[in-house]
Amino acid sequence: MHSVSKLPLGRFARCVITHPNLTRQPAFFVPCHNTANDVTATNIEAYNEPGFRDTPTKQLVRAAVVLRLSSFDFLVKHADTLFRLGNGVLGKTLFGKVMSATFYGQFCPGSKYEDVKKAAVAMQEAGVTPFFSIPAEEPITQLGDVEKWYADNTQTIIDCIDMTSKVNINGSPKLCHIKLTAFMDQALCKVLSDAIIANNGDDNAILESIKSFDKKPVHLDFLSDAENQHLTESLLRYDRICAHAAKQDVSVYIDAEYISFNPAIYLTCKAMMLRHNKTKPVVQITIQAYLKKAKMEAEKFIKCCQNSDIFFGAKIVRGAYMVTEQQRALDQGYEDPICDGLDATHANYNGIVKNLLRAISRKEKVHLMVASHNEDSVTHVVRRMKKLGIEPNEGKVVFAQLYGLSDHVSNWLGENGYLIYKSTPLGTIEDTMPYLYRRAQENNSITKGDKRDRALINIELSKRLRQFVFFWRKDEYHTLQ
Ligand SMILES: Cc1cc2nc3c(=O)[nH]c(=O)nc-3n(C[C@H](O)[C@H](O)[C@H](O)COP(=O)(O)OP(=O)(O)OC[C@H]3O[C@@H](n4cnc5c(N)ncnc54)[C@H](O)[C@@H]3O)c2cc1C
Repeated sequence: MHSVSKLPLGRFARCVITHPNLTRQPAFFVPCHNTANDVTATNIEAYNEPGFRDTPTKQLVRAAVVLRLSSFDFLVKHADTLFRLGNGVLGKTLFGKVMSATFYGQFCPGSKYEDVKKAAVAMQEAGVTPFFSIPAEEPITQLGDVEKWYADNTQTIIDCIDMTSKVNINGSPKLCHIKLTAFMDQALCKVLSDAIIANNGDDNAILESIKSFDKKPVHLDFLSDAENQHLTESLLRYDRICAHAAKQDVSVYIDAEYISFNPAIYLTCKAMMLRHNKTKPVVQITIQAYLKKAKMEAEKFIKCCQNSDIFFGAKIVRGAYMVTEQQRALDQGYEDPICDGLDATHANYNGIVKNLLRAISRKEKVHLMVASHNEDSVTHVVRRMKKLGIEPNEGKVVFAQLYGLSDHVSNWLGENGYLIYKSTPLGTIEDTMPYLYRRAQENNSITKGDKRDRALINIELSKRLRQFVFFWRKDEYHTLQ
């Protein structure tokens, strides 16, 4: 099979290159272009154009327009109202087409198997693997009304695991990520978290009481009968997801959410790790480095896994709920949980990642996903990996960015043989848009602050335009002759 390099506007000869990715043995990732450790040959900062050479011009124009629009505060802030208004004025079908050609198309490959498969194959041909997620924004309803929603989400997650397993053609580890609150009530997460916080963050006693949930329904004194029943059902759903992932050889990352839910997320994740992570990291957690306590939480979590001799795996992110967390702390009068300033978050991020890399180099049962668009962090990890002798394609360290963002970072990593993933939401326009505009509001700093994506796309577009004008003029000259 070949990868076709699309030259400007389809006017010119297509250059066909043999793609080593597609001829390799499964389970080993072979770099697309450069040799695996050849990171000195190029660096991200100097990586100004080759990343988009395979991207069709139409997609580049869409990316330029969408990323520019996403940088306007007004549009991002009122995205939900504008979405409803557009739906009302244009009608569902026409508005759906507009969204597919713009925002939805930029950040989501579609909801049909064929569309997703096409996007997944294209990504893998470029050395990037899809990292599917299910956009699940919980409706504000009372516990009991949403049981069907949780059951449906569980089935959607199972389907997502199947999709991950089916479309993976490049032999790199199969990964997807999910939210606990897609199949467990947020209010219950808060009650459990409060109980853990009241116990100075120690969740051992609760973990002990819930870990046999499949044999005996959970009974925690501080929960009502309905809450105990919902917790048991949620753990059974969770267990079904993890067992299915293990069967399909897929690893599932559990997203970190608000600090008011995170202790419950960690507790239930530990319960699943104890059951499913004995021989491989089936279920993995997320650590938010913007939290002052992140380093300590990561260390506690690793220790818990070491004590039980099971695999620990984590995606390290900076964190997506900063504004809300800070506002809540201010409103409720508790200490701001977020690091004092961006530099402190960067230091926390790099520190956590450094410790995990060291553990990996010591051959401990540790896996790491560097989920960041930050060029310094990515370069830092690449350098540390080289220094510690961790191979790019070993499978213990992977990188991830969001689909539709920072493609230059993903392409650079892919070209240098690193295992690189794109977090790709799966869902219809109605399911995905609320998730996308929440994410745009939370990640305003990437779409607004980081202009490098847009700058690189504009460089590539101007280059293509210049080439087009040059060849058009040449054609005109020959015709006149
Ligand atoms: C694959 C993937 C999965 C993700 N999963 C999750 C998840 O499960 N949970 C989650 O919360 N997020 C998740 N995120 C989002 C992530 O947390 C960040 O919001 C986003 O990636 C921006 O961080 P960065 O490292 O890419 O970039 P940068 O632009 O370097 O950092 C921006 C981030 O720094 C932090 N920050 C900004 N200003 C300040 C300040 N003044 N003080 C302290 N900190 C500050 C914020 O976290 C902000 O998002 C995920 C991201 C990716 C790519």
